[in-house]
Amino acid sequence: MSDGILKTLIIGSGPAGLTAAIYAARAALKPVVLAGADPGGQLTKTSLVENYPGFAKGVDGPKLMADMLEQAKWNGAELKWESAAKIEGQAPPYTVTTSAGEVLRAHTVLFCTGAAPRRLGVKGELEYQPRQKPDQKIWGEGVTYCAVCDGNFYRKLPVAVIGGGDSAMEEANYLSNICGEVTLIHRREGFRASTVMLERARSKKNIKWELNQLVDEVLGNEEAQGHKRKVTALRLKDARDGSTKELKVDGVFIAVGHIPTTQVLQGVVKLDASGYIEVDDRQHTSREGFFAAGDCHDSRYRQAVTAAGMGCKAALEAERYLAERGLS
Ligand code: NDP
Repeated sequence: MSDGILKTLIIGSGPAGLTAAIYAARAALKPVVLAGADPGGQLTKTSLVENYPGFAKGVDGPKLMADMLEQAKWNGAELKWESAAKIEGQAPPYTVTTSAGEVLRAHTVLFCTGAAPRRLGVKGELEYQPRQKPDQKIWGEGVTYCAVCDGNFYRKLPVAVIGGGDSAMEEANYLSNICGEVTLIHRREGFRASTVMLERARSKKNIKWELNQLVDEVLGNEEAQGHKRKVTALRLKDARDGSTKELKVDGVFIAVGHIPTTQVLQGVVKLDASGYIEVDDRQHTSREGFFAAGDCHDSRYRQAVTAAGMGCKAALEAERYLAERGLS
């Protein structure tokens, strides 16, 4: 960085950002990673991750991310516990102002900030999410945003899926093969979901439908004497007449959409109507030298392993881009 310009700046520290950091560091790009104040991404909010290859009996989500972070550092990436507050430039080098006010310039930017599940915003939603206390005990159970990650914890148990889009149908279909009864709760009668996904869900005998229903509150046991808080039921409110009823469930899968973390990119690179970054099949965005990887551009797969793969691709593309311009 003799001219004060970084070869590669990576923004985000989930599986995409950290995999990009490992590859970029090993390619001698001396990457700086803006890891954010709360590094590690969505996996730090889950408990056991059973579908990440290489861990025969699963791996604790926060541990997986802590190890990825160490691996990135060990390979030579420099991590900063800041996020990107402002990004400027129509072409490289890009100028990125961090949340701490530091101004960085970079020939390539790898944008890997992920997405966050949209919250329902009802009472009980946060209280029953698996979260770790400082004493390392998990103290909540029952509310989740990912059937592929957590469905297995609810084998043969009654669960609810909230939402009326393709995600909700996909979650319900997936859970119907694992859980007992799956109740799909949607706030109106019409669906956003595609006909094929909807019909697939409708063909499943153990998927029940609660339409025109709003979730009023997630109900459960209180935490007591070392026992976790656990979901026991949902209180539903009829959107038409306001009447309420309870539905007994052990798990609540919320699938009301995701929000990509791309607000800082407005006017910088092309985003689609939902805010996801548009990339080509090599992770290039609409701006030269500006790459994106993971859930901030991928609304379809949203898996740690696919995000990691995209992070690898983005770093290899950045390396190639820099080499072609004599900047590596
Ligand atoms: P969508 O935005 O399509 O659907 C969100 C659903 O959640 C809607 O039914 C919406 O209801 C409901 N909702 C939103 N907010 C609330 C709330 N506060 N309370 C209750 N319900 C709420 O998101 P998806 O994640 O389902 O899909 C996103 C994109 O990803 C889509 O383009 C989809 O096609 C794609 N996708 C494709 C898949 C595939 O092809 N295999 C799988 C999954 C997603 P309402 O309709 O009333 O607004």
